[in-house]
Amino acid sequence: MKNKKELKVIIGIVLVVLFIAGLSYLIPKLLAKPSQKLRVLKNGEILLEHELVKDAKFMILDQEAKEVPFEESLSSLSDDERNPAMHEVNFIEVKDGKVLCTESNCNNQICVHTPAISKENADLPIVCLPHGLILQIVN
Ligand SMILES: [Zn+2]
Repeated sequence: MKNKKELKVIIGIVLVVLFIAGLSYLIPKLLAKPSQKLRVLKNGEILLEHELVKDAKFMILDQEAKEVPFEESLSSLSDDERNPAMHEVNFIEVKDGKVLCTESNCNNQICVHTPAISKENADLPIVCLPHGLILQIVN
């Protein structure tokens, strides 16, 4: 009988410890500031918002933003799709909290040569002027 009681006490302690461990994991998450996001604007319209902590690749094709696999690039598109006379295409990568315009079919390639933006230099957006595209970091 005594052993059963001891066992109950031990199980009780284990449950309390697990409960406290769970709380100490959850509370900082709940109190944490909202994470920073990448915001993509095209001609002043918000096309996309994506949390910086989640790695992803996006293709902006004309007025549409779409998540794509990391392997996808301009060369995966058809000749028509990447033809600058027909479509405006930008590829954007969010990786390790940094945002980069990896490829574009714009005429000056300034967006591609702009250094990656992150929360450290959140005031400097990446701009693709020929496509009217702005990549910025917002709270
Ligand atoms: Zn550009």
